[in-house]
Amino acid sequence: MLEDIEEILITEKEIKKKVKELGKKISKKYAGKELVLVSILRGGAFFLADLARNITIPVSIDFIAVSSYGTSTKSTGVVKLIKDLEESIENKDILVIEDIIDTGLTLRYLLKNLQARNPASLNVCALLDKSVRRIVEIPILFKGFDIPDVFVVGYGLDYDQKYRNLPFIGVLKPEVFLRKGE
Ligand code: 5GP
Repeated sequence: MLEDIEEILITEKEIKKKVKELGKKISKKYAGKELVLVSILRGGAFFLADLARNITIPVSIDFIAVSSYGTSTKSTGVVKLIKDLEESIENKDILVIEDIIDTGLTLRYLLKNLQARNPASLNVCALLDKSVRRIVEIPILFKGFDIPDVFVVGYGLDYDQKYRNLPFIGVLKPEVFLRKGE
């Protein structure tokens, strides 16, 4: 697995430090509120698990799954809800925990869908922001890192369902895509 990585963009140590900082900020912002962390499967689950453990106020968690990428590295703009939340979010403070925002199309769909359920508030926490590729504007209340226009894997992010378990965020070697004919 490691032999497929061209470069480590964000180390495990840097991620840990950032997640701790984000946890602190979120705890402060939502003190006294009924906070629900909504994570987007599957990649977002890694970030959520670490972030939740760095939040010091009571939170509940819920999961939603959408498809936008399939196994390809290019966004199609077509988003489909595959798994819905288990609980109602009406009158609750919702923080969507996303691993990476690229074009923004996935989140635009999701935020519209969640807003229609009348939460008390609806905000976004994203670990990675690939803002140069943004097509639709997304308000990000909490952000981890800005990254350039490269395809990254690790810490929950996959390529063809692999590399999610890498503890860092890295860039794949171009030959890995060529192997698959992309
Ligand atoms: P968007 O709709 O913002 O273009 O795409 C968001 C989704 O695309 C992310 O949740 C993620 O699944 C996928 N994605 C976007 N950029 C990358 C990337 O660099 N690496 C990986 N592994 N997935 C990405």
